[in-house]
Amino acid sequence: MLLLVVEDDAAIYEPLVAALRRNGFEVHHTRLGAQAVGMVRDHNPDVMLLDLGLPDFEGLEVLKQVRRISDVPIIIATARGDETDRIVGLELGADDYVVKPYSVRELAARIRAISRRRRTEQQMGTERLVVDRSRRRVQLDGHEVELTAKEFELLAVLAEEPGRAVTRQELFSRVWDPVWVGSGKSLDVHVATLRRKLGDSSLIETVRGVGYRLASS
Ligand code: CA
Repeated sequence: MLLLVVEDDAAIYEPLVAALRRNGFEVHHTRLGAQAVGMVRDHNPDVMLLDLGLPDFEGLEVLKQVRRISDVPIIIATARGDETDRIVGLELGADDYVVKPYSVRELAARIRAISRRRRTEQQMGTERLVVDRSRRRVQLDGHEVELTAKEFELLAVLAEEPGRAVTRQELFSRVWDPVWVGSGKSLDVHVATLRRKLGDSSLIETVRGVGYRLASS
């Protein structure tokens, strides 16, 4: 498992990186926020530990930029008592936080919990249909299904919770654009193509007047 540690304080990162490596993690480290964004893009780490007080730019800004390009699990490290940063961090898409000073044992436990959770989330769908977000792959009855990016997104949203009717509005805003104002034809066309590619039109059910849902079994 590859960790990206973003921390500028040598008194923290030197022992931390060494201890994480002893715990079996592969670790990349940077002191700079700007570099952190590039490292996420280039190395695709499994988990990122992000200190919010960095010398070049705000940790929260790093968080925002990383979230535009990656859904890597992020654990933010905040100073004791800094509740605002913690709340804003979680709202901006951090997955968890640790309060300084934290122990390596605590951090390692959180890293393992978060990556376990992520693995289960990434494999969505039903017994027959597996939607793997990290690899952007779809399998139906063990066979690979080739989808375009939009078709994949559409299916992934439906597969998050099989059986739940997802409104057209939610599908528009999550698959297309938050302020999408098209005719809605595009959605129906994509669903039709998706049904054809899956080779089983009963998998995606039309919920009249509402939207669509993935058949739950
Ligand atoms: Ca710092």
